[in-house]
Amino acid sequence: MKMVTESEWEVNVPDKQLKDKVYFENLKSVVIDTEMCSRCLTCAAICPGGITVVNNKVDFPDYETKCLDCGACVRVCPRFVYEPKSGLGDYIEFTAGRSKRFAGQDGAMVTEFIVSAMEMGLIDRGLFAGRDENWATEMFHVRDSEQLTITTLGGTKYTFADVLPELKKAVMFTKSGVGVIGTPCIVSGIRKLQQEFPIFREKVKLVVGLFCTENFHYDDISNFLKAKGVDFSKLVKTDITKGKFISTMTDGKVKFKVTEAEDIVASGCNVCTDFTAVESDASCGSVGSAKGFSTVVVRTEVAKKVIEFIRAKGHADFGDADPAQLDFLIGHKKKRAENIKR
Ligand SMILES: Cc1cc2nc3c(=O)[nH]c(=O)nc-3n(C[C@H](O)[C@H](O)[C@H](O)COP(=O)(O)OP(=O)(O)OC[C@H]3O[C@@H](n4cnc5c(N)ncnc54)[C@H](O)[C@@H]3O)c2cc1C
Repeated sequence: MKMVTESEWEVNVPDKQLKDKVYFENLKSVVIDTEMCSRCLTCAAICPGGITVVNNKVDFPDYETKCLDCGACVRVCPRFVYEPKSGLGDYIEFTAGRSKRFAGQDGAMVTEFIVSAMEMGLIDRGLFAGRDENWATEMFHVRDSEQLTITTLGGTKYTFADVLPELKKAVMFTKSGVGVIGTPCIVSGIRKLQQEFPIFREKVKLVVGLFCTENFHYDDISNFLKAKGVDFSKLVKTDITKGKFISTMTDGKVKFKVTEAEDIVASGCNVCTDFTAVESDASCGSVGSAKGFSTVVVRTEVAKKVIEFIRAKGHADFGDADPAQLDFLIGHKKKRAENIKR
């Protein structure tokens, strides 16, 4: 539907399926109630009313009185008009990298990309998903590499991070631009924001995607890990590798088959087919390269410039990466989504 706003520019708002209901009720009926919602929070980032998370679900308390029916939520939701992405996506270079400066989940190439982009002057801040002592995520605006002495900023947290509401603040504060990291659903949300709202187009300069099979709501995964004997006060790393969920503590490891946690995988992950974050500028993961390296997929000219800078400065070691090693997880996500009955 074409809508002319008060400022008289035209925007395209997807058609309402429930014609006599406000847009939030349409989002709820198409995406949230059908359990397709990825909890990327793109809608919450843009909603002028009050979309938030209640009991692990995207919700809008009091929407009857507070929803402005502006349609922003359905314009940016990557799953309202869902065009599933999959495969390796387009790329310029497929390689393995290990930062010489930073520690991370694998080769810390995600951190290296963001910091190098800052040093190049492409961006003046990078948004990182850190964590508190109980492994709940917290967002940080990193302005220089010294802040990375906060060791909890790097590494994988197998729970959701509120990246996109924070990105909205970052685009308002930045002068030169923002670098942002996210799982494939978050990357798709960022592209939607850029498509619909010029400030995100102008200010978000680098989007680093993470390979992702699935994610978990915080209370689900923390209760699950505690029941398995994980002591959060000693937990230093969580990893999913070769079908095993591994929690590394200061005094030992707890390992179990990741399929044991299948029932607590967030429902929106089960419909997702994008393993490699195909819409990112560059994406990184652990599968595809040797231990201690990040697999790096360079997709756009901007990411190519950053990796050229990393090479020229000698900030990372590079090695071989094998795209065929990603086939299993790419295929697994497609199959899992096909098996979901909607
Ligand atoms: C939920 C999840 C599932 C994943 N599943 C797979 C998988 O199945 N196979 C695979 O090969 N790789 C997977 N990855 C990616 C992998 O764990 C590493 O993040 C990747 O290899 C990059 O490592 P690095 O050392 O380069 O990153 P680092 O330099 O350590 O940087 C990683 C950055 O990611 C950000 N981050 C961490 N957790 C989250 C989160 N929950 N949401 C948003 N941002 C976050 C932080 O800002 C952190 O700084 C997954 C990542 C996540 C978050």
